[in-house]
Amino acid sequence: MRPFLAHPFDSDKLHEECGVFGVIGMADASSFVALGLHALQHRGQEAGGIVTYEAEAGFCSARRFGYVRDNFTKADVMSTLPGTIGIGHVRYSTAGSKGATAIRDVQPFFGEFSMGGSAIAHNGNITNATALRRELIERGSIFQSSSDSECIIHLMARSMGRNIPDRMEEALRKVEGAFSIVAMTRTKLMGVRDPLGVRPLVLGKLGDGWALSSETCALDIIGAEFIREIEPGEMIVISEKEGVQSHFPFRRVKSRGCIFEHVYFSRPDSILGGRSVYETRRQIGVELAKESPVDADLVCPVPDSGTPAAIGYSQESGIPYAMGIIRNQYMGRTFIEPTEQIRNMGVRLKLNVNRALIKGKRVILVDDSVVRGTTSRKIKDMILDAGAAEVHFRIASPPTAWPCFYGVDTPERSKLLAATMSEEEMRDWIGVDSLKFVSLDGLYRAAGAAKGRDTKSPQYCDACFSGEYPIAPSDMIEKGFEMKAAE
Ligand code: SF4
Repeated sequence: MRPFLAHPFDSDKLHEECGVFGVIGMADASSFVALGLHALQHRGQEAGGIVTYEAEAGFCSARRFGYVRDNFTKADVMSTLPGTIGIGHVRYSTAGSKGATAIRDVQPFFGEFSMGGSAIAHNGNITNATALRRELIERGSIFQSSSDSECIIHLMARSMGRNIPDRMEEALRKVEGAFSIVAMTRTKLMGVRDPLGVRPLVLGKLGDGWALSSETCALDIIGAEFIREIEPGEMIVISEKEGVQSHFPFRRVKSRGCIFEHVYFSRPDSILGGRSVYETRRQIGVELAKESPVDADLVCPVPDSGTPAAIGYSQESGIPYAMGIIRNQYMGRTFIEPTEQIRNMGVRLKLNVNRALIKGKRVILVDDSVVRGTTSRKIKDMILDAGAAEVHFRIASPPTAWPCFYGVDTPERSKLLAATMSEEEMRDWIGVDSLKFVSLDGLYRAAGAAKGRDTKSPQYCDACFSGEYPIAPSDMIEKGFEMKAAE
């Protein structure tokens, strides 16, 4: 039976689709990879996989649906993953079989080449995957999955490169889109970021061993020291003999990391772009309070992701911070097979209002984003039912009006509230006294760009807010997606 992992509350959030982790030079590598993936579970809860290599056993792999802690802690699984090198992947649901992942779509993917095997774990999305796949199939490739990431293995198979890192490099030159990749051979761990550096990837060190991870929080869990980020467009190859070797195989361009990583996807205890994610989120709250002040009695976060911004808003405005909404941390595991009646309870299953605190108060609710807006409406109902005098929403990101094609699960444009309504229409539809979003400039300032967004050459990818896509989503354009007209 597949466990029920997606919660009704979470369906109104954007979802990061993957986390990747890998180690080399560590006895019992699979345990370290499992711990790393556990720390990255927020980046994907649907399924996970680990590949290791050991001379006698060869390449070993285990791929499972569900949480890391439920699959990769048991001796019967972990004993099948020997070796001192390993990589892993957690996934939400990537391009291909959205919502109905087959085990064949669960990474890492593996390919056997004339010079040996290689496994890869990919975070991001290939925006020309449809065209690549079509071409590869016409030339005889036989795909095992519906995942865009499998194209990389087939492109490597067709490469004439002398070794696996060369083949990976050649394959990735044909790929468009966002990729942070952790890969391995029998003796090497590899990490690559796309030229824009859309998705994060960091390097850590533990004793004589090395680790690669989507986020620094997963280095912390294994006690590894954070060395540095893999730079946009950089490829590193790590071996026990030669250590870390770095080069830049792609044309150098200005980086455009995903700004939503700072708002929501990354864990607040991670360091991203040299900044504490928590501190950026707190600063967004400060910007929001400056841009959109309002008279009220309490500032309450929509837990958990609205918490740092609510703290910042409270500190800047002087309005007391309070836990007006309490999150049930164990909800996701309680109802394995929810009935229709339980599903209809929706957000109440996960969030409950602290009535004694809210009654008669003018409340500012701080949330990270508004996607469809359905959750915002339900939360407003709960707060009013509890007797609040006024409800003011403050949102720690600009209106999400465009879908992401770089590895984040977004509803189609017509389902995004901000794509179809003005800010005032959204306020009216949600039914609150006021609704304000942080400006794009305010968000950039909070993320460390003192002068805000450089409109001629933006410092981040912000396409889901601005509609300005730094990499043309060619597959989607072919399917009829209409880009924003140039201004
Ligand atoms: S479109 Fe939005 S979510 Fe996607 S990479 Fe860009 S900023 Fe991040």
